[in-house]
Amino acid sequence: MMLATRLIERKRDGGRIEPGEWHSLARAYASGHIPDYQMAAFLMACYLRGLDRAETAALTEAMLRSGETLDLSDMRVPRIDKHSTGGVGDKVSIVLAPLVASVGVAVPMMSGRGLGHTGGTLDKLESIPGFRTDLSLAEARAQLDRLGCVLIGQTGEIAPADRKMYALRNATSTVESIPLIAASIMSKKLAEGLTGLVLDVKRGSGAFLPELERGLELSRTMIELGSDHGCPTVVLITAMDRPLGRACGNALEVEEAILALRGEGPDDVMAVTLALGVEMLVLAGVTTSRDDALKTLRDAISSGRAAERFQLIVEAQGGNPAVVDDPAILPQAGECEIFRAPRRGFVARVEPRAVGRGVVAIGGGRETLDDELDPASGFVITARPGEWVESGEPLATVFAANSVGVAAGRAALRQAITIADEAELPLPLISHRVSATGIEELATS
Ligand code: URA
Repeated sequence: MMLATRLIERKRDGGRIEPGEWHSLARAYASGHIPDYQMAAFLMACYLRGLDRAETAALTEAMLRSGETLDLSDMRVPRIDKHSTGGVGDKVSIVLAPLVASVGVAVPMMSGRGLGHTGGTLDKLESIPGFRTDLSLAEARAQLDRLGCVLIGQTGEIAPADRKMYALRNATSTVESIPLIAASIMSKKLAEGLTGLVLDVKRGSGAFLPELERGLELSRTMIELGSDHGCPTVVLITAMDRPLGRACGNALEVEEAILALRGEGPDDVMAVTLALGVEMLVLAGVTTSRDDALKTLRDAISSGRAAERFQLIVEAQGGNPAVVDDPAILPQAGECEIFRAPRRGFVARVEPRAVGRGVVAIGGGRETLDDELDPASGFVITARPGEWVESGEPLATVFAANSVGVAAGRAALRQAITIADEAELPLPLISHRVSATGIEELATS
């Protein structure tokens, strides 16, 4: 197709693509009129040459318009979503969406699948027996009216150009580009008819963009795209130099999320959930006081309202609601084994990429979008960077389908967990808040 070769050449040579051309390209690709090999070459040219501000906005708009959008303008309550740039052990969405919905803010949450070393909320939720994430937009709307929250995947109807491009980028090493990530995330989020958006941008070795400066630039880009579309956007920069919480793996993470909904989650999961929740309530206009917002969220947890809302959502989406009272009905691994410290010393590092790749290696993640998952496989890692451990002390548990999986899990943990004579300083859990008014440093690193 002529259009594609012309645009590949122009981007390759450092030229600009005009808004109308981005639209034609997205439409032609979504409808199968441009083959993957041409789009792959074009994306690599974008990755190497970059996109300016106007091109990033035009690509976002083109991907947004490649499909349908949720029209929620007749809903009287504020509609706020949260999205993360991808992490390991990050089950925050599963806690946050019902929690925030239980205090009167609608959360139309559209999540992704795990790819690469990162986990995906959809895969986690689908480990609940019967849970459906493929609701139509009409079903999603009805549930949103009734329960204030829906947890769905990017349907074929929403931003189909992004859906295809993201899978292609994942297979062609073109994910780690600020304009491509920003346009991908924001095209989906802006299709949800939101009145505000909170983003968790990860930094550290397990993040797609490890360096703080690149994370801040991505944040500013997404905030500007939000402003262009009248969707106020706030970012918290959080640490991904170690997994979040203890559980890494689909069913294991759902179990930890249920504990967190009851207020019994690990400290870091609770802290990130509450910090993002405060931003969501303030954006929704529920209160202007962060202290009030925090108190409202804590009350929803301690009263049981947040867990109860999750139970109603699970039931509405076809899942077994008994899971909230009895997480043991989640799929259970065939084998498990305790992983012990090979020597005494400080836990210097728990490397999220190695942990995430380990989850994939033992069947709990996928290498390609079509791979089958074993929802029960994964790790529970209790060792935290900075702690002192004795030789032989339990650091983690491996959960796998069989002894081959357990052996692969053991090998992954040997790579991931470093015990050393000196402790290394981990990144602050929540280091920056970025909004349209600028960057606030919340903790020094
Ligand atoms: N998440 C997305 O949805 N898109 C990206 O490009 C990266 C992370």
